[in-house]
Amino acid sequence: MRMPFAQPEDYAPAFAAPAQPSERALWFVFRRTDLLVPAAPAQPALPRAAHPSALGLEVAQVQYLGLLGGEHCYAAEVHSEAPPPEGWSFQGLRTLFSLFDDATLALAGRAVQIIDWDRSHRYCGACATPTVVKTTERSRECPACGIVFYPRLAPVVMCLVRRELSILLARSPRFPQSTYSALAGFVEPGETLEQCVTREVMEEVAISVTKLRYFASQPWPFPHSMMIAFHADYAGGEIRVDGVEIAEARWFSVDALPNLPGKISIARRLIESALSELRDAQIPG
Ligand SMILES: [Zn+2]
Repeated sequence: MRMPFAQPEDYAPAFAAPAQPSERALWFVFRRTDLLVPAAPAQPALPRAAHPSALGLEVAQVQYLGLLGGEHCYAAEVHSEAPPPEGWSFQGLRTLFSLFDDATLALAGRAVQIIDWDRSHRYCGACATPTVVKTTERSRECPACGIVFYPRLAPVVMCLVRRELSILLARSPRFPQSTYSALAGFVEPGETLEQCVTREVMEEVAISVTKLRYFASQPWPFPHSMMIAFHADYAGGEIRVDGVEIAEARWFSVDALPNLPGKISIARRLIESALSELRDAQIPG
């Protein structure tokens, strides 16, 4: 199955722009976190130009992204109040899920995070000296104290616990009323992913787990997460939720499922993968 947000084979990442600029490079132009796309959404496309100035746009920063299908790609940022050029509009990435192919969407997610990182690391967080771009890798360095700043990534583990023919799903107070998903939480410094899964599940539902099995990962650019998903088996305990992080958690049988997260999410794919295994196990054999 094609993984949404995975970097496809036809993308070759790079950070050093070619010496000879392309006349028709592909531009991911952001105004804050919104991407410049044609105002008529039936025709999803990105601007192709030597530079956004061809569209009358004044850009604050430019980052080279590499090659997508052989085309040079750049991320750029305009001022937070810049109006879009005639016939174009700035749209949130979430609204573009269904309009762009996976490759373009994945690169847009990468682009928005790099732009955000670059904007927020212009000055050293330790000594406030202006940072400079390093030429050997994608990073910014403080010339005074030597600290190197890399694009931020926050690892988040996700875990789907199963017990016989049931799966443990929880509802966050932030979710729509009837949508249930797998458990998830941020990795803490010093923790392995496996320790994080065990801790999060215990903290959120008071259940202990065993037999962790890596499933898949998914970059999630809202704002800079890396989701790492696991299957796990129930080991002991009774469900108890704190009512803050988790509003409700229950065992759901494969035959009686609640509303699940959208198909683009890794949570949904993790759940579908468990359901398919449990349905196979259910067939008398
Ligand atoms: Zn410094």
